[in-house]
Amino acid sequence: MTLSEKAARVKPSSTLAITAKAKAMKAEGIDVVGFGAGEPDFNTPDNINEAAVDAIRSGFTKYTPASGTEELKKAVSRKFRDFNGLDYAANQIVVSNGGKHSLTNIFQAITNPGDEVIIPAPYWLTYPEIVKLCDSIPVVIYGTKESGYKVTAKQIEGAITNKTKALILNTPNNPTGMVYSEEELRAIADVVVRNDIYVVADEMYENLIYGEKKHVSIASLGEEIYKRTITCSGLSKSYSMTGWRIGYTGSSVEIAKLMGSIQSHQTSNPNSIAQKAALEALEGPQDAVDAMREEFDARRKYMYGRIQNMPLLDCLEPEGAFYTFVDFTNVLEKSYKGVRIGTASRAAEILIEDYRVAVVPCQDFGFDNFVRLSYAISMEGIEKGLNRIEEFVSSL
Ligand code: PLP
Repeated sequence: MTLSEKAARVKPSSTLAITAKAKAMKAEGIDVVGFGAGEPDFNTPDNINEAAVDAIRSGFTKYTPASGTEELKKAVSRKFRDFNGLDYAANQIVVSNGGKHSLTNIFQAITNPGDEVIIPAPYWLTYPEIVKLCDSIPVVIYGTKESGYKVTAKQIEGAITNKTKALILNTPNNPTGMVYSEEELRAIADVVVRNDIYVVADEMYENLIYGEKKHVSIASLGEEIYKRTITCSGLSKSYSMTGWRIGYTGSSVEIAKLMGSIQSHQTSNPNSIAQKAALEALEGPQDAVDAMREEFDARRKYMYGRIQNMPLLDCLEPEGAFYTFVDFTNVLEKSYKGVRIGTASRAAEILIEDYRVAVVPCQDFGFDNFVRLSYAISMEGIEKGLNRIEEFVSSL
């Protein structure tokens, strides 16, 4: 019997596959360094864990309202106000089962079959798959090194057709670690408003910004852009809570209502215990977040400095998140054991098999010649892994 053609078109997540391969090798006792991680390597802070234990002990283990508890929505509303300068009331907020789930809710709520969604590359590999699952068409535009792998307002305008429904804007960016400036966002907001499309602003890494850079939420740049933006964030990266599965959106009341009813049928409420933990994360002390950011910053500087000094490799200094986006073009031109390396996937294969380092080749992020290295591993691991990569590139 036939199965869903739409499902068959979805690519399995290659980042999860690489992380799984590195974990399996480690379990076999092989000393592999994993640069694939898409999650902080820190434990969830204790105060957050305690809040979850209290939730269980006090019997907070039943259904909650489908789009999240009122107390958590109010906390998210305060966070949007204080951190992002955004005014979303509790009825504009939908708490979901993680950032991925929020994105799925959004595209189910705003798109019709055949709608186009503009996705700037390099992109987080899940975006095109979710868009396709919602019967819409990903339209990819490409950032360049000169623009910090970001796209310009002009490029976006050039990609807009009468079928365009939305633009996905991810800042800080996975996989590049780059951050859009207020000026760049103002120019993009102008195009979005003039062409009357939506922006899906994925700000999942908003807490992880280093140096002089500041996070700016595009929805905060005026009433017209606010009306057309769905702002999406979550607890996974900022609070090292990837396994808890809590994400949230701020949007118009109309879109929030649609997403709330979709969610009420597809998953019901996000986990009640995780919601209590999320409340503590947002309202409790923030020192663990600051400590994580400082540690990431030190690793970022170290990794960037090392890669800059390696033969054949090139990268920009990341400004946020916990990834370095490395240009492998010169490596691909070289031969290994008499055969041209050719693709980033082949380079990644050599690195894991012969040098015991797991990296993420970026063809599924829309940039074929690049590799993503996560610095969400210990400094010791980073040093060891970079030594191995250096040994590889120096041998070519
Ligand atoms: N957005 C971006 C850019 C991400 O990199 C991720 C996770 O890797 C997410 C959203 C989703 O986070 P989660 O579903 O784990 O909350």
